[in-house]
Amino acid sequence: MKSLIIANWKCNPESLEKAKLMFNSIQRAAKKSRKIEVVICPPFLYLDKKTYSNFKIGAQNCFWEQAGAFTGEISAKMLKNIGCKYVLIGHSERRRILNENNSQINKKLKSAIKAKICPVLCIGETLEQKKQGKMKQVLQTQLFLGLKGISRKEIEKSKISIAYEPVWALSTTANKKKCSPEEAHIMNLVLRKILVQKYGKTVAHKIRILYGGSVDSKNVRGFIYEAKMDGILVGKASLSPQEFIEIIKALEFSK
Ligand code: PEP
Repeated sequence: MKSLIIANWKCNPESLEKAKLMFNSIQRAAKKSRKIEVVICPPFLYLDKKTYSNFKIGAQNCFWEQAGAFTGEISAKMLKNIGCKYVLIGHSERRRILNENNSQINKKLKSAIKAKICPVLCIGETLEQKKQGKMKQVLQTQLFLGLKGISRKEIEKSKISIAYEPVWALSTTANKKKCSPEEAHIMNLVLRKILVQKYGKTVAHKIRILYGGSVDSKNVRGFIYEAKMDGILVGKASLSPQEFIEIIKALEFSK
């Protein structure tokens, strides 16, 4: 299985011209990649399959209904029709800032599966939850409620990934704490065990578990080779095409 490297541009950059410059810079590096599947998740406005061809595009969110009177929403079906292959669901910023809950996340996941877009379910504990020793419990709840009612067969077909993003280790958090590859490895094993219990070994091992939180070109190898993650979700570092290309190269040319 190829490692999955996803760039989450969040609410950046501020113009299509700038987005095109970023896309163009990444194009060549992504094209050369043999071991890595590169996905860029720009804001909705810059999702246009005519703009790029050497990497896959993903969205940062979707709505759970296909179409209708839902002002301001974008459906998974629309994303599919514009050429999106992936969609991030349940990112911690949406959970925290927009109060997105596990029930809504579950509906979004189901709509992505129905639209045949690979969902990336983002989960992770806050610093408070970590301090209280509730990490496992929090992740288990987010996984169980996020995946509620989704069958083993649907999981297998959907090519779903789980992105473990400890909220306290994101580059945007004020506490400056870093998640080590050792800590990420422990959580990787915890998540895999939960998935095996829920879906059985064969299906659980087909689910890619990604890590996200302050990854850059210097620490990325640790998360892939020590923490044994199946991929990486990159936020801040993906906004610099040069740094993002270095991340791709760090994996492409190692081992
Ligand atoms: C993210 O918010 O998804 C993320 C991975 O951010 P960063 O890499 O900036 O910590």
